[in-house]
Amino acid sequence: MKRSLEERDVLILGGGFAGAYVARLLRGREATIVSRENFMLYTPLLPEAASGTLEPRHAVVPLRVMCPRSELLLGTIDGVDLEARTASVDGRTIRWNDLVVALGAVPRTLPIPGLREHGLSFKTLADAINLRNHVLQRLEAADAALEEQERDRHLTFVFVGAGYAGVEALAELSDLVEDALRWYPRLREARRRWVLVDAAPRILSEIPSKLGDYAARELAARGIEIHVGTTLASAAAEEVVLGDGTRIPTRTLVWTAGVTPNPLLREWGLPLDERGRVEVDDVLRVRGHEHVWALGDCARVPNTRSEQPDPPTCQHALRQARRLAKNLAGEPEPYGYRMLGQVATLGRHKGIAEVLGLRLRGFPGWWVTRTYHLYQLPLVQRKFRVVVDWTVALFFRRDIAELGQLGHPEGL
Ligand SMILES: Cc1cc2nc3c(=O)[nH]c(=O)nc-3n(C[C@H](O)[C@H](O)[C@H](O)COP(=O)(O)OP(=O)(O)OC[C@H]3O[C@@H](n4cnc5c(N)ncnc54)[C@H](O)[C@@H]3O)c2cc1C
Repeated sequence: MKRSLEERDVLILGGGFAGAYVARLLRGREATIVSRENFMLYTPLLPEAASGTLEPRHAVVPLRVMCPRSELLLGTIDGVDLEARTASVDGRTIRWNDLVVALGAVPRTLPIPGLREHGLSFKTLADAINLRNHVLQRLEAADAALEEQERDRHLTFVFVGAGYAGVEALAELSDLVEDALRWYPRLREARRRWVLVDAAPRILSEIPSKLGDYAARELAARGIEIHVGTTLASAAAEEVVLGDGTRIPTRTLVWTAGVTPNPLLREWGLPLDERGRVEVDDVLRVRGHEHVWALGDCARVPNTRSEQPDPPTCQHALRQARRLAKNLAGEPEPYGYRMLGQVATLGRHKGIAEVLGLRLRGFPGWWVTRTYHLYQLPLVQRKFRVVVDWTVALFFRRDIAELGQLGHPEGL
């Protein structure tokens, strides 16, 4: 059966940070978000969702509640025809007046032997839940192991990529394991090994060096092994090998070594830079296409305040979305934003923050980081749920139930 052409005013591809905020802030026009999920993932809370400090559902915001004036079209974008001004969503052809491309980025994998087969990614809510279950399964397997060598292997966790995602996830999960060991008396004296690997000469290279150095000292004091200036050479089911020849027996390899713009963008004839990001001008319009706009991790967005392209962060995606929502509704004006600071948590009661030139670490850094995320998280009811989770976590240890069954019912 041939489907008729559907018409939409502003079609937003992607319901992540950038797309959802454009839809939420747009006034005077009708927006339609195309997204594979019916929620926006608040990625800075993902490490806490993985470690169980936060209920995973509370790290996401339902798009219908966040953007009540917009239509939500749940589906996968298969193609865009820039000439005909149409997009194909699960076989439906939709014509748009303005198109907003906000398809984000995907994990950047390298052709390292064994990486695809044995590496765990950490980008989506499913990844966070999977990682938590995997770590808890390792504790069970270590408890059941008959040989010391095998037990040590289960209790060794290797993270490759020491940016925000890798450092925060490692710090949170090592706290989870320390908490959980209370219920594994046989493992209390067992050796736990956490290894952080990065090709850059220091961890958290995106933040000021003093804070990055503090983070490295803090992690090292907890016994976390940091291998900087080295890469992953190969991975197998029971071992990883680093570029400097170090062999690490492990059953856990987490790959958080950066992201790359959504590869779908290459198929539509959009102007892309050398990294595959969509080229936009200072009003966020795609070069050469009057009614196509792009922002967020998938775009190379020039910033008139910093005079550099924006880095791929939530706070930049949000500011770009604010500008674009205005540009779509009225006379477009250039985008400019001066970053106010950077924050990161390093597990319970520890964090780092640089806000308006002030550097904080330890408990104050952790408190500022949490307060900042609470402020940024959309919807009052979401903020409340997160505060309740955090308050409960202050008084009780983390839950250690391994819920790998979730989403996989056995059926009749
Ligand atoms: C683990 C992790 C932690 C992070 N922590 C921080 C932090 O602490 N602070 C910070 O500033 N930044 C952080 N970031 C970076 C931040 O998440 C991104 O910069 C931000 O999400 C970019 O927003 P976006 O809308 O461009 O992309 P995304 O938020 O990735 O959204 C892209 C959307 O497009 C959808 N999509 C993709 N392909 C299709 C398709 N074919 N069909 C339909 N929909 C599709 C995706 O499902 C997604 O909803 C973190 C990222 C990760 C992965």
